[in-house]
Amino acid sequence: MVEKMTGRIIRSISGFYDVQTPKALVTCRARGILRKEGNSPLTGDMVEITVERGKGMVERILPRKNSFVRPAVANVDALVVFAANVNPVTEPFLIDRVAAIAGDQEVQVILCVNKCDLDPAVDLVRIYEHAGFTVICTSAETGEGVQQLLDQIKGKLVAFTGNSGVGKSSILNKLCPELALPTGEVSEKLGRGRHTTRHVELYDLGEDTYVADTPGFSLLEMPELSPENFKELYFEYNDYEQECRFNGCNHINEPDCAVKQAVEEGLLSRQRYERYVELYNEVVDKWRRRYD
Ligand code: GDP
Ligand code: ZN
Repeated sequence: MVEKMTGRIIRSISGFYDVQTPKALVTCRARGILRKEGNSPLTGDMVEITVERGKGMVERILPRKNSFVRPAVANVDALVVFAANVNPVTEPFLIDRVAAIAGDQEVQVILCVNKCDLDPAVDLVRIYEHAGFTVICTSAETGEGVQQLLDQIKGKLVAFTGNSGVGKSSILNKLCPELALPTGEVSEKLGRGRHTTRHVELYDLGEDTYVADTPGFSLLEMPELSPENFKELYFEYNDYEQECRFNGCNHINEPDCAVKQAVEEGLLSRQRYERYVELYNEVVDKWRRRYD
């Protein structure tokens, strides 16, 4: 008898796919035709499978909301970028890059400012709240903000990203103690085999909530965004844009730019603006190389 089911791929290792269906976790191979069509399944994919004599087979991949190449994951609802202002301090560039990567695929960004027991990182929180991000202050030490984070990610497939040592594993353990992930020194963790492989794994937190722990997002270069689309990711600049002298002002070298004026007056963060200029130039370079 052949049984048909639908489920989500939560792990893929050398051609085997672990598919979580409402009933069970089924290890599957994929129909050869999928690979031939250049349509290999990704972790995060919703798939139709058949099970015959205990053997699972991925028959079809349901349409994807989005997909990322590195890390290889599909159907991401939100990127949770972790930052801390202490030991190790997060380079804010990383947040802005992740935001661009997310914006490119229309994925929500949640900024999780961790280790707030040691440093509440008030500047970071202010800048990114002002920029329209959902910001949550957490502490794996005191448990602060953990419930709030859980409320934000409930029912979603989210990817945790952020620099090593910022507390991603510690917070994951708070969200789901059964995971019992190793935390601590990077070298120790690598020694224990985490993140030494390239595959992405989803942690099932129940109630259709999945977390992919994928520091790799931070290593990505800028996506091939159009400069126009990149600009739109800076929501806080929209309020000033109408006041710029030129329509479609890029807020870089144009005279009478209201955004630059607001930076001068301290209404907008100078650091974030400086990162904007640098990233904007990167985006323009990339766009030109591709289309000129
Ligand atoms: P990851 O590399 O991002 O997964 O970071 P880990 O979860 O392994 O945490 C790195 C170190 O920071 C560990 O020694 C944790 O105990 C510590 N840590 C993580 N979160 C917090 C926190 O909120 N407060 C404090 N004080 N320490 C934390
Ligand atoms: Zn301007």
